[in-house]
Parts: sequence; structure tokens; C-alpha cells
Amino acid sequence: MPRRIVDLSVKLTNNMPAHKFFPRPVIVPHLTWDDMLKLGNGVPGDPMGGCTTYISMVDHAGTHVDAFVHTNRKGLTIDKMPLDMFMGKAICLDLRHIPDLGDIDIPALEEAEKKAGVKIDGHIVLMCSGLHARHYPKDSVMWSNAGITHEASHWLADRSRVHGVEGPSTDKPSHNEFPNHRVCRDRGMTHYEWLINLEQLVGKGEFEFHGLPLHIGDGSGSPVRAVAFLD
Ligand SMILES: [Zn+2]
Repeated sequence: MPRRIVDLSVKLTNNMPAHKFFPRPVIVPHLTWDDMLKLGNGVPGDPMGGCTTYISMVDHAGTHVDAFVHTNRKGLTIDKMPLDMFMGKAICLDLRHIPDLGDIDIPALEEAEKKAGVKIDGHIVLMCSGLHARHYPKDSVMWSNAGITHEASHWLADRSRVHGVEGPSTDKPSHNEFPNHRVCRDRGMTHYEWLINLEQLVGKGEFEFHGLPLHIGDGSGSPVRAVAFLD
């Protein structure tokens, strides 16, 4: 049986919702087919057209991974981070009972870990909240996500260096305390934000995850095409 690939990345589109601190992406035609044909490329009888797209956005738009420097002034930029951080064994925790703007705390993680049937030990820990399915494409997807508590962030750091969530942030948009980002800073941990389709990974046990960043010089993060491989 070939492995099934689950796409975990939201489509990047013009003016899509963005976190409250960030501008919305601009993704518009740059050179259209008609523009290109006017350039006269190709040979007589076989013109060579084409098209290109103009993209302008911050490195934390859509599905993305944070570089260490995003939370730690002395941390590595995205181009300096080891690539093996962005792939490996993973599990998905079912946290869909936690309401919008709720808390992802230690009891919730412990219960979900038990339900997943995998002891977290160096796994990339994905957290399914159902947020994307409930809200997208409404802007409320940007201001409704649950947050990982300070204690739960340390619980994750004791077991794993990388986690991932639905929605634009691991921290709640309803205050600016950023407990998870502060623990990521202090414990050398990072995360993926705005993953989608995590429902498809619930109950699947351990699987392989890849979410490679672009090679952005001095980047504070990067959009990624995150995927899970299911047997
Ligand atoms: Zn982040």
C-alpha cells in the first residue's frame, strides 16, 4: 500500500486572514499571459507566453514555522536552524473538546496523550482543536484559538522540541501574555502555526511529519508546506 499524504497547509491567497500583528498577504498577478505574449518571446509561429505571480507577505503568514530568533533575540534565524527539526515522528492529540479561547493545560494533554496511545518522546506534537473547520474562511479564525498554558508548554518541552497548532498562534489572541512563546524562548522549543486537516490524523498513532521552511536569509520564520505520511 502506498503511503497516504495528508496536506496540513492552508492555501495562501490574496488578502487572506492574518494575525492581529501582521498585514494580510498580497498575492496578485504579476505578468499575465497577455503581458508575456506582448514581450515577443518564442519564435515566429510559436510564441512563448507564460505568467508570474507577485507575492508580498510576512514570514508568519498562513501555515508557518517560527525560527528561534522570533522569540529569542540571540536565537537562530530560520536559515541557520537544523533541517532535521522540521521532520520526524509525530503524533496528533485530539483537543476538540476545548472551546474557543480556552486553555490547553496539562490534564488535557495527558488525557489526549493516553487516548492517542503513544507516549510522547521526541515526537512533533500536533494539537487538533477543530478551530479551522469551525471558523475558516471567516476572520474569526484569527481571534478564537485556544492557548497553551505556561505549565503545559513546559510539559511539552520536557518531551519534545517541536509542536504545532491550528489557528495563527499557540497563544490566545485575547491577551498579550504569550505564555507558550515565552516558554519556547526559555526552553529552546519552536512550533508550527495554522496547521489544517489535523482531524485526519486523530487516532492514527505515530506517523511521519515534514514541514520544511523556505531558505530565507535571516528569516524569523517561514511559510511551509506541511504534510503527514500515513501508512
Ligand atoms: Zn509562534
